[in-house]
This record gives sequence, structure tokens and C-alpha cells, in this order.
Amino acid sequence: MLMPKKVYFDYAASTPVDPGVLKSMMPYFGEKYGNAASIHSFGQEAQIAIDEARTKVANFFECSFSEIIFTGSATESINLAIRGAIKASWAAVKDKKTHIVTSQIEHEAVLDTCRDLEKEGVEVTILPAGADGFVKPEDVKSALKENTALVSIMYANNEIGTIQPIKEIGRIVKDFRSGRGGVYPLFHTDAVQAVNFLDCGAERLGVDLLSFSGQKIYGPKGVGGLYRKEGTSIKPIITGSGQEFGLRSGTSNVPLIVGLAQAVALLPEMKKLAGQIEQLRDRLIERVIKEIPGAKLNGSLENRLPNNANLNFGAVKSKIDSSLIVALDLAGFAISAGSACQSKAQKPSHVLTAIGLSPQEVKKSIRVSLGKTTTMEEIDGLVEALKKILEA
Ligand code: PLP
Repeated sequence: MLMPKKVYFDYAASTPVDPGVLKSMMPYFGEKYGNAASIHSFGQEAQIAIDEARTKVANFFECSFSEIIFTGSATESINLAIRGAIKASWAAVKDKKTHIVTSQIEHEAVLDTCRDLEKEGVEVTILPAGADGFVKPEDVKSALKENTALVSIMYANNEIGTIQPIKEIGRIVKDFRSGRGGVYPLFHTDAVQAVNFLDCGAERLGVDLLSFSGQKIYGPKGVGGLYRKEGTSIKPIITGSGQEFGLRSGTSNVPLIVGLAQAVALLPEMKKLAGQIEQLRDRLIERVIKEIPGAKLNGSLENRLPNNANLNFGAVKSKIDSSLIVALDLAGFAISAGSACQSKAQKPSHVLTAIGLSPQEVKKSIRVSLGKTTTMEEIDGLVEALKKILEA
């Protein structure tokens, strides 16, 4: 039997490594194997590669060399930002009753870290996101208190693609801070899904801390980074030999850092494809809504990542009771329910629940995320497969 061609629509979960990125990494798995901490020429070669990588990444975020910290993933970067900032705030105020403001639609890396800190006595305010999937800047403003040490609001949501008003939130945090005449609250953003398409000038965004990942930008898995504005005090969460300006100990993973930086250097090319990807995304949404009675889009179409469509078939009259994801996979289409991490855990999406969907709608929603090689034929193929599956 001829198997259908496999089509990948899960670029928000992970992207293929760009061939140029892979090429840039290869020498550091082979002949250039030195430890960047070693004094000899092998070590120097590795150190130079890391320095060059840091410069490339700093150029992208329009910041200085020492403001970039490489980590083992975006999750680790988020942990370093949140736990590191809170630990530093304890040292500054000698009080565990510091306060974090975050939102219901954050990735688990943020929410679980905040919940864990809550168990240690930190106060956590979790703001709602409206039915459209946006955190309201005025809600952030009202949540700020005398003991607020950190605000962590994502730049773009991984499930519904909504782009949060980061610049406005940054201004609110800054105004509150200067009114109070101190260094707190700090502002962290999880920019993992945003860097492919959105402005990432750190100063313009008004953030103190920003997390990013290699695997979402056609770079390798197992590497991420944190922008930390000069003068922002965070404590390390991994201690040891003091790599990464004393903030992330452990022998530097040279090939992955080189690959991450090469992927970052290719981002301006990616941004040029945003219009084309958005057109394909819009074709998918329009066709699905027109041709599948009852189908809806989750989250706002305005201020949405160009590669994200989260489709809701909760009101579609169809006989299919099994998973749409499995049915689509059998038809050759790799899509996801909410975030990849949640799909396997079979937990209902906290993001879709937060924007007011019923359990039935959550169950019958899928996230389609497009990449730079997605074609119109693939989009049309997916629509036809969806029609067939839902009619069955
Ligand atoms: N934040 C967001 C918005 C994400 O989409 C993801 C991954 O899906 C992460 C954080 C965690 O990234 P990683 O699994 O690379 O650590």
C-alpha cells in the first residue's frame, strides 16, 4: 500500500535544523573539540567560536556582548530568569514574601516555576487573558504592589499565537519602578515563539530579561539563551565553574551554541517570509471556516503570529469521536493539540480553557503551525483531509 506523503504542520513544537546551521556546527563535533575553559590553542579555538556566537546573538537583540547568556534550553533560560531574579530579590530585601505577576496563558516553563516558588512563600498573581487571548496592560498595572519583584508575560503565545502588548507592559513596569525609586519589579518575557517574526530590539521592548530557544528557529535542540539587561541582578540556578559570566556553570556546549547563533543570524531572512506564511495561514483559516460548517478560530486574528492557526471544531456536527490528531496523522499530517508538551500528557490545554472554551471545544481544537517551506498544496491537502475526517 502506498503511504501518504508526510506533511509537517508543527513548527511551533520544533523546526528542522537549517542545513547552513548544521554545517556551522559540524567542526565542533569533530576536529574542534576543545573545552573553551582550557588555556591551550584547542581551548582558545572553542572560546573564539563562543565569542563570535555571542556577538551574533547580541547583534540580533541589539544589545551588548555581556548581556547574552547561553543555556541548555528555553525552559532553563526561563528558570534562570524567574528563579534567578527572585533569589536576587531575596538577597536584596531579605524577605521571601516577594511577589510575581504572570498570566494564565504562559508556557508551563513559566507557570510551573512560579507555582514551585509559591510553595517557597512567594506570592503569585496569575492574570487572565480575555476571550481573544490577550493580557491587558491595565491588569498588569493594577496587579503591581510594593513587594512585586518580577513581571513575566510572554511575547507571543505558543498555542494561539496571540502577540502580547509587551512594549506597553514594559512601560508600565518601568513607570512603577521609577515611581518607587528602586530596581524592582523586573520584567521578563518568554520570547520563544516570537523571535522568528517580531521585533526583538531588547531596549525597544523595554524588557530586563528575555528567553529564547534554538529549536524553534531552525537551530538545534538542547540550547537556548537569556538576554539580561546590564545591571539586572539575578542569581545562578546552576553553580559550578562559573561559565556564562558566573550565571550558568557547566562546560560550554560549543557546537550547539555555534548552531544557535547561526540560526539567529538567519532570522532576518525568516522575517522576509512572514507575509508569504501569513497568506497561507489565512487561506487555511478562510477555507476551514467556509467549508466546514461550525468551525471557528481560537484567539484573535489580529496581532497573531503569521504561522499560527488554532482551529476549533467543537461545534462541528461529525461522527468522529477519536482524536483528530491521530486521524490527521494517519492521513499524513503532523499537527498538534495545544503545545507539544501537553499533547503527550493528554492534559486539556490550560490556554484554551483560560480563553473560555468548553471541555468539548478544547478536545476538538487543533494547532496548525506553518514553517518556511509550507506550500499552498500542503494547506489545501490539510483542508481536504479535515473535511473528509470530520464528515466520516
Ligand atoms: N516557551 C514557549 C512559548 C514555548 O513554546 C516553549 C516550547 O514549546 C518553551 C517555552 C520551552 O522551550 P524548550 O522546550 O525549548 O525549553
